[in-house]
Amino acid sequence: MVLAVAVSPGRLAAGLVDERGETIVRDRVTTPAHEVWRTLEGLIRRVIAAAPDELPRPVAVGVSCTGPLDTTAGSVTPQQLRAWSGFPLRDHLEAMTNLPVHLDSAAAARAEGERWVGAGRDCDDFVVLLLDETVESACVQGGALLHGAHGNAGSVAHITVDPGGLTCWCGARGCLTPYASAAALETELNRPLRRVTSSIVERTGIMVGRALGSLLALVDVRRVLFAGSVVDVFGDPLIEVIGRELGHRDRANGLGAVELVEVTGSVDRLVAAAALTLRPPDG
Ligand SMILES: [Zn+2]
Repeated sequence: MVLAVAVSPGRLAAGLVDERGETIVRDRVTTPAHEVWRTLEGLIRRVIAAAPDELPRPVAVGVSCTGPLDTTAGSVTPQQLRAWSGFPLRDHLEAMTNLPVHLDSAAAARAEGERWVGAGRDCDDFVVLLLDETVESACVQGGALLHGAHGNAGSVAHITVDPGGLTCWCGARGCLTPYASAAALETELNRPLRRVTSSIVERTGIMVGRALGSLLALVDVRRVLFAGSVVDVFGDPLIEVIGRELGHRDRANGLGAVELVEVTGSVDRLVAAAALTLRPPDG
């Protein structure tokens, strides 16, 4: 049994997940603007208190957080969560639970979750791309997650897709994030995702295709797994545009043959966070 925790700008989730990847107890709250740790701590205590008496106690904590983060320091600086800048999330969770804590990005957790019980079980070389409130991605090569110095390897969020284009929160112009994150799209267009026009779906697909084309020129994968609210709402038309855009580069690394798979639902945030505990402890 492990305690799974998932932090994103919109939602805090916690649960108890067993060794088969089944979630036994779960709870979630909207991420507050202030007192984020206090809210998360309260949520975790509620989840532990809600566990049936016969349930074994958790032996480890898996925690995912939207990026950027520093897995060496155990700290997180999630985009759009201004209350946390360099917040020492791993230390806080260790002190609270007295358990080993495995921290990684939302996309890294999703990649480990897909390898554990999802669409990555039969594949040693794939990319996970989460188009959600934020843009998150991770890359598995030869069966191992690319990690990097701080845990941000394989991220396409700030690849330039439109030089001189929309301003990104990172300070640059033309990054993928302002074209493909739900939060950025809703702010720019002043309407919910469900009401965007087909030309915006097309634009998003082209920009994601450009970013993926750049990533896939550097790494070598068989499959790209897509998930997140933008993928859920835009659906097949988005994936088709991305495929078309990659097809323009199909003499490079055989990009036209990369499988594009929408993986909504099967591995949720808590199962993904729990999958992080399958690896050796951090630090
Ligand atoms: Zn950027």
